[in-house]
Amino acid sequence: MAISDQYKRVKDEVAQQCIDCGRDPSEVKLLGVSKTVGLDGVAEAIKAGAQELAENRPENIVERHDKFPQVKWHFIGNVQSRHIPDIVRCSTLVHSVYQEHHLARFDRSAEKFGKVQPILLEVNVSGEESKSGLTPDAVPHMIEAASQFPHIKVCGLMTMAPRGKVEATKECFAGLRDLRDQLAKDPALQFDNVSLSELSMGMTEDWKYAIEAGSTIVRIGRAIFSTEFE
Ligand SMILES: *Cc1c(COP(=O)(O)O)cnc(C)c1O
Repeated sequence: MAISDQYKRVKDEVAQQCIDCGRDPSEVKLLGVSKTVGLDGVAEAIKAGAQELAENRPENIVERHDKFPQVKWHFIGNVQSRHIPDIVRCSTLVHSVYQEHHLARFDRSAEKFGKVQPILLEVNVSGEESKSGLTPDAVPHMIEAASQFPHIKVCGLMTMAPRGKVEATKECFAGLRDLRDQLAKDPALQFDNVSLSELSMGMTEDWKYAIEAGSTIVRIGRAIFSTEFE
């Protein structure tokens, strides 16, 4: 299937899954992860209606943001200090913040570009060593730290589920939601620039479980952009 057809199919399936879970389709944003395709693939997804796309490499988000400024670009990759100014210039939302020492750099870059940078905190819910992110225990401190910076807004949490095992995947997504619910009502964590409304979870293999568990943003790559998928 062509990328445009796959985009439309996934879009419909996401809406249907919301309805099947008793949720309003407007509560869940479909983010196309275009990291595996070239500019042609990006253009095709845009033509099919994609308005928000994600990249995991700073050089790609810069190129694609500047080529397709009508799209809202999200950064979902590993953050390195020296790339933070580029990431801030180009990103509507940065999903993958977990290092405290990066916060000051995000704040300074955002100030320079005259914006407040929305971010999500990446959490390693499953505790797998290969995964990056904050341990659930470390999230409250990170929220307090981020709240000190006027050019950062914490909008929620992000996670990646362990690969392959359905039960572990469901546990991971429920774990992120429960953590969010608990932190959102913690009186010590109420700040003007912190709202934990977003849960970025769910990829090609597991997005249906993520929507069931309360995801508000699904990040889907292969099901849209791989012509070898299914
Ligand atoms: C690549 C990537 C995705 C998309 O993965 P698919 O399995 O292709 O849907 C989502 N989130 C992150 C952080 C990624 O790096």
